[in-house]
Amino acid sequence: MAKFVLIGSGLAGGLLAAYLGRRGYDVDLYERRADPREGNIVGGRSINLAISTRGIHALEEIGIADEALRNAIPMRGRMIHDKSGALHFARYDVDPKKCINSIGRAALNTTVIEAAQRYSNVRVHFNHKCTDVDIDSATARLETANTAVTAQGDAVIGVDGAFSAVRISMQHAISKFENDESYLAHGYKELTIPPGPDGSWLMEKNALHIWPRKSFMMIALPNPDGSFTCTLFWEFEGPRSFATTKTNDEVRRFFEEEFPDAVPLMPGLLDDFRNNPTGSLVTIRCSPWFYQNKVCLVGDAAHAVVPFYGQGMNAAFEDCVVLDECLEQFRENRELAFGEYFRRRKENTDALADLAIGNFIEMRDKTASKTFRAKKKLDHALEALLPGMYLPLYTMVTFTRMPYAKAAKRARIQDGLIYLSLFLIAVLLVASMVWLIAS
Ligand SMILES: Cc1cc2nc3c(=O)[nH]c(=O)nc-3n(C[C@H](O)[C@H](O)[C@H](O)COP(=O)(O)OP(=O)(O)OC[C@H]3O[C@@H](n4cnc5c(N)ncnc54)[C@H](O)[C@@H]3O)c2cc1C
Repeated sequence: MAKFVLIGSGLAGGLLAAYLGRRGYDVDLYERRADPREGNIVGGRSINLAISTRGIHALEEIGIADEALRNAIPMRGRMIHDKSGALHFARYDVDPKKCINSIGRAALNTTVIEAAQRYSNVRVHFNHKCTDVDIDSATARLETANTAVTAQGDAVIGVDGAFSAVRISMQHAISKFENDESYLAHGYKELTIPPGPDGSWLMEKNALHIWPRKSFMMIALPNPDGSFTCTLFWEFEGPRSFATTKTNDEVRRFFEEEFPDAVPLMPGLLDDFRNNPTGSLVTIRCSPWFYQNKVCLVGDAAHAVVPFYGQGMNAAFEDCVVLDECLEQFRENRELAFGEYFRRRKENTDALADLAIGNFIEMRDKTASKTFRAKKKLDHALEALLPGMYLPLYTMVTFTRMPYAKAAKRARIQDGLIYLSLFLIAVLLVASMVWLIAS
């Protein structure tokens, strides 16, 4: 059986190692950080994430969905907080059973790594940082605290996130490699709403909370211990931005003006704001994702997206399912398997990248408007009226496994038909009025 060297045991790395382990491949998984079970999890990254149908399907396929979702908290809709503190709840779907789930990154990471380690042919090596890859010999060069080592396989898979060392090696070695990294003008900072005194949730537990403020926003997802993790998405630069809001007074004033109902729930606000890092938001589009039968990219390493559709991890997990299917389809020819995986995924992750950027505008701006809420109600009414025929875009992306590009295309057609129908109804009404007046 072939030997795979995997770089990165984040969410997708652990899961992919389990899939490859199940296929009987020899797998060595190298991670630059310490074992997450020692409490050293992905510093600065989102503490919790929303997992939905695609991600859950990938966990089910390998038999770990129940274990992974044991402490997940269902979120049935968006809870919009306006500036006056008034709340508006909008369900995600007409079917109340359809929800997204808040799940802890550290716990999920541990679950996928342990799933991989159940296969005796999978070995995980923490504290090994990949510096680069010789793509012709499928050899990764790695550094530990005190030594440099190499790991050679039949193939190296880069599952090492948005700033992938494997992708950079491909970029250096492949003359026609395309690599586009685009950053939003917004960064993000995580803040905390701690649990109530009795460990209860101080806001509605089963909702994703949004404070939309046009050019920026804050969101909050619930955690099992009664706390919420809030994320402020805000401009790095500008008259009111991370750059200009530094002192405690400035931070307090900004929060009291913009998020007055949240401030009393955030006793550690000033410390969190000062101490927590400000992360950047990047979209990666690159091509190709593979080199011969030697190297392949999976997850954020191939297609990092901004987090506003809650799909980055879901898409990375879907990659694992598709790559596994392609390795089955082309058992004897790994290059064809990698090529087919790239063909099936690329247009879909490109479509997701666009959807994710579009959803930022929707979340931070449109969710606050009455027109948006009316459109969502119309969506749900049409979905109930035309079951199976009309599916809102959010539903297709979040609650089905329809390819992202197909979902985006179908939504454009549906929207076109709605606008055409509304136009025809308006024309008919005007024509009837004219006829009534004339007769
Ligand atoms: C603020 C925020 C909120 C998000 N919310 C959601 C959400 O709600 N739902 C959702 O689906 N997605 C969400 N995402 C996206 C999600 O976090 C990513 O898509 C997901 O983590 C991708 O998994 P990955 O395994 O490809 O990469 P990562 O999770 O980044 O894992 C990469 C791993 O590789 C390791 N590594 C990196 N470089 C090296 C190296 N040189 N050598 C060895 N190891 C290395 C890293 O330490 C890490 O463990 C969010 C992202 C952000 C930033």
